[in-house]
Amino acid sequence: MRKINTHDFKVATRTTSRDINRRIALNLIREHQPISRADLARRMSVTRGVVSVLAQELIEQGLIYEGATGEVTRGRKPTFLHIRTQDRLAVAVDVRFSKTYVMLSDFSGRQLALEVYETVFALPQFIKDLAARVRRMLKTHGGAGNCEGVGVVVPGMVDHRTGRVLNAPTLGWRDVDVRDKLAAATGLPVQIENSGRACSLAHLWLERGEGAATQSFVYVSVSDGVGVGVVVGGELVRGRDHIAGEFGHMPLSLDGPRCMCGMTGCWEAYVSNLATLSRYFGWNLSKLSPKSLHEAGSDSFNVLDLVTRARGGDAKANAAVQATARFLGLGLSTVVNTLNPDCIYLAGEITTAWDLIEETVRVSLAERVLITSAESTPMRVSPAQVQPRLRGAAALIAAPTFAAPRVA
Ligand SMILES: [Zn+2]
Repeated sequence: MRKINTHDFKVATRTTSRDINRRIALNLIREHQPISRADLARRMSVTRGVVSVLAQELIEQGLIYEGATGEVTRGRKPTFLHIRTQDRLAVAVDVRFSKTYVMLSDFSGRQLALEVYETVFALPQFIKDLAARVRRMLKTHGGAGNCEGVGVVVPGMVDHRTGRVLNAPTLGWRDVDVRDKLAAATGLPVQIENSGRACSLAHLWLERGEGAATQSFVYVSVSDGVGVGVVVGGELVRGRDHIAGEFGHMPLSLDGPRCMCGMTGCWEAYVSNLATLSRYFGWNLSKLSPKSLHEAGSDSFNVLDLVTRARGGDAKANAAVQATARFLGLGLSTVVNTLNPDCIYLAGEITTAWDLIEETVRVSLAERVLITSAESTPMRVSPAQVQPRLRGAAALIAAPTFAAPRVA
């Protein structure tokens, strides 16, 4: 039950119900494509005639197309409706502490090209270099004409309305403009978002089937840091100052290891890839200079290698992975106690060891959740081969097409 905001509303007009129905049709087509008009009419509980009008409008708007004719035993063969995604392109950019990933993708999040390079920390060079790469990629892959924008995700807090990165501790970016500068340099619309939130957006907008049914969930991406996206009632929670969901920086202990945010004992400082590796190699993170931290983070031996060693019977590697799992579970118990989500989605290198660590995560979660039933909060791991952050960056450009029109 959502209260009507009497200070900020949009009055319904004669076209409002038609707009809403068109978006409902569009989203049903997205989830069930290829779908016939008859099936769509059945799912919407409206007549074929109503669906035909809506479909025609969506075709005219270039949002859907009629595809392959279906096989039926008798009667007129139906044509199927598909979302037009293949020739609508976006450039997705995932900026990480270690590397930057640039992907050319279609509107379904499918990868058409990928480039990976060392992250450039100085902002003017970052913009210049990235713009050149985007232009080159679009030219090489023939996407220059139908690219609808660049979606950028960063490990930090972002004001998505102004496009400013408020604080990205690992990159050293604080209150800087990325969106408008990159838009000017590329000549394309740019959207920017926090990486954990982008993962949750990818889940919300690009998943189909069972996964798409959850409207309230938390997405936790454990990598160089911890990115968290909170979705409640089908909407990403941003908060007054755009820092909602920054669970990565909640203190597990006041005198714990130093975090890249400058404080000590943050959850992130216990579970990040660096934390896991430092347990194995015996590094003292508090004593490493930023430069050696960066070198350690971009070293060729990473958490995936550590997981391989743990699987191969290396007891020290397994101990390091299990210690991270324990802290992961402890942090997740706070997520469960504060938000009580329908599901927690997990991604990141450490989750490739899910079969080894699930029990440890569950035991430490159970230690701290407030009621027994919350111990069984579903936890699902994103498959390693999908790149949720890049898909999230693509969703920043593709998702607005499908969003519900704002009314009341
Ligand atoms: Zn921190």
